[in-house]
Amino acid sequence: SFSTPRFRRVLLKVSGEALMGNRQYGLDVDMVERVAGEIRGVQAMGVQVCLVIGGGNIFRGISGAATGMERATADYMGMLATVMNALAMQSALERIGVATRVQSAIPMSSICEPYIRRRAVRHMEKGRVVIFAAGTGNPFFTTDTAAALRAVEMGCDALLKGTQVDGVYTADPKKDPRAERYDSLGYLEVLSRDLKVMDASAITLARDNNIPIVVFNLHHAGGFAEVIHGRGPFTIIA
Ligand code: UDP
Repeated sequence: SFSTPRFRRVLLKVSGEALMGNRQYGLDVDMVERVAGEIRGVQAMGVQVCLVIGGGNIFRGISGAATGMERATADYMGMLATVMNALAMQSALERIGVATRVQSAIPMSSICEPYIRRRAVRHMEKGRVVIFAAGTGNPFFTTDTAAALRAVEMGCDALLKGTQVDGVYTADPKKDPRAERYDSLGYLEVLSRDLKVMDASAITLARDNNIPIVVFNLHHAGGFAEVIHGRGPFTIIA
């Protein structure tokens, strides 16, 4: 009953927290499997999919720095955390028959491929899901920025951010019952109102390269496929 997909190639940003499910730390296997199922559904529609996986469920550079560790070192630990999540996602996808490749921004040749832009594009053309690990490979960045960067490099039609809520709200909907969801926003509105969507460098990169950002609920079953068909609820930033 679905219409033709609205996007040909997309990048899905999955935060580490999303993979935590209801736990306080680490990976929730059910959640990883659910997200893998969502990805398979979209890929089966003929849409090319790549992923950027966060690491906040395991380690964040900021927290490490707060304990006295050098920030850059702590950030490298955070990037390593994203590699662990990427491998977990790869495993879950392959178990349900989706061909994948993990590419790390920090070369780790015995575990996965190094990031090679043209090769990543080729993988997607062949129907493989490419999972980008280790963020941008640089400390002082986030996986949000990595997601915007890879979406631009891959020539994606959209950057989809799967979150715990179904879009961007005027206030935190979990705390304020009057909070309302925006259907659409401009990049500059997000920046000037300091709305917590993605960090400013990610928004700027998307804006400079005209890539729409779609924020939707990754916990809502079938949500990813619906967004691909332009069905809500979601917030589109363009
Ligand atoms: N990180 C980094 N450079 C990058 C991407 C990530 O240094 O390009 C580090 C940073 O310390 C960050 C951690 O990796 O805290 C985990 O990534 P992030 O916090 O973006 O994960 P998410 O919030 O999406 O789970």
